Amino acid sequence: MIDYSKQITVLYVEDDKDVRLGYERALKRYVKKLFVAKDGLEGLEVYKLHKPDIIISDINMPNKNGIDMAKEIKEIKKDQAIIFTTAHTESKYTLEALKMQADGYMVKPINKKNLREKVEEIARHITLEKESIKNQKILQKILDNQTSITVLTDFENIEFASKSFFSLFEVENKNEFFKIYPNMLDIFVKHDNYINGSDKYEFLKKYSLAGDENKIVSIAALDGDVKAFFIEIDMVDDLYILTLTDITDIQKEKLRAEHTASYDRLTSVYNRAKFEEIFEIKFHSAKRYKRELSVAILDIDHFKNVNDTYGHLIGDKILKLLATTCLKSIRKTDIFARWGGEEFVLLMDETDLNSAKFVCENLRITIEKMTEKNLPQITVSIGITSINDKDTKSTLFERADKALYFAKQSGRNRVEMNE
Ligand code: GH3
Ligand code: MG
Ligand code: MG
Repeated sequence: MIDYSKQITVLYVEDDKDVRLGYERALKRYVKKLFVAKDGLEGLEVYKLHKPDIIISDINMPNKNGIDMAKEIKEIKKDQAIIFTTAHTESKYTLEALKMQADGYMVKPINKKNLREKVEEIARHITLEKESIKNQKILQKILDNQTSITVLTDFENIEFASKSFFSLFEVENKNEFFKIYPNMLDIFVKHDNYINGSDKYEFLKKYSLAGDENKIVSIAALDGDVKAFFIEIDMVDDLYILTLTDITDIQKEKLRAEHTASYDRLTSVYNRAKFEEIFEIKFHSAKRYKRELSVAILDIDHFKNVNDTYGHLIGDKILKLLATTCLKSIRKTDIFARWGGEEFVLLMDETDLNSAKFVCENLRITIEKMTEKNLPQITVSIGITSINDKDTKSTLFERADKALYFAKQSGRNRVEMNE
């Protein structure tokens, strides 16, 4: 058995010399350090000097009685452990001692064994409390020293969190945090790309289903700044340890890189690389399931003249206007991309040649009528074709290209088909 009394310090206050000497000898044997005072005034002085763990004090004493001394001590340390010893059984004292939340109230003559047991009980409590506070401090230090954010939670209460967690929300502690987010799962942005949930079951389910790459949550900070974090969840007993690693910058860079890789810088429609990636999939799927697929190539007529006459900047504006106009005109399932220069491609799912001709004729007319302040009007020539059984990707494209050539040859501003 651990002798907890051996780890604590005690202040013993008693004005009766004989009584004091008797208990002093007894207490000295089983506590770490004993301080003795002969009245409340001296007790207070000794207390301030040594801050003992437990006070054992008589009540009725000259200069300052035990209750008054204890009141002043409790002002210094609210949860100071105090045991009162007194010959007085008057309810006045008992009541006052109780009001002070004394840890013990023993009537003289005190049985030494009982006192020892009482001291041991309080010592045990104090020691465990100290250890727990120490452990918490160590844990807090470890957590605060990590670059990632850590939260120990059952998703209702926060048992523990690193400072960095609270600073995300510009709060100091969990009380302030819960004032803003009564349901802590509300901190996670509800978006399909990120793990979230209205209760912990939904959240944990999404977490376990997400692949390692996609274990990502998004948190909107109070100032509206949205951050992305890799999340890892571990379990200890009934608590979850959430570890969040800020990947906002990586994520932004990734999105930017993805955008640059797939979209044309000038017109913001798909670029050729992205088009070819989609075309690859659509082409094989159309072949396998024998579905219709049509391709159109659009080329601006005499664009060189436009540049020469109005300047390159105006030429750029026209390219942008053409791109947005086409995007607005086509169906959601159609893929429109810049092929390069003043050429664009349109891939039409589930569309046979005649329907494609209809779509492209409309597009041609829309472009012809397209107007914007300070921009000259332009026309386009369009060549179209549809997939056949023998097609490879290149034969399909070669046919569309030939159709475009016919359109140019036959006078421009027209749509030509090539079966
Ligand atoms: P055609 O009717 O035969 O297609 O005549 P065209 O002048 O349009 O064809 P050509 O291939 O001779 O010229 C294409 C022009 O497109 C030349 C080039 O300067 C212009 N062009 C290509 N890319 C851009 C661009 O990004 N911005 C601008 N402003 N012009 C571009
Ligand atoms: Mg051209
Ligand atoms: Mg051209």
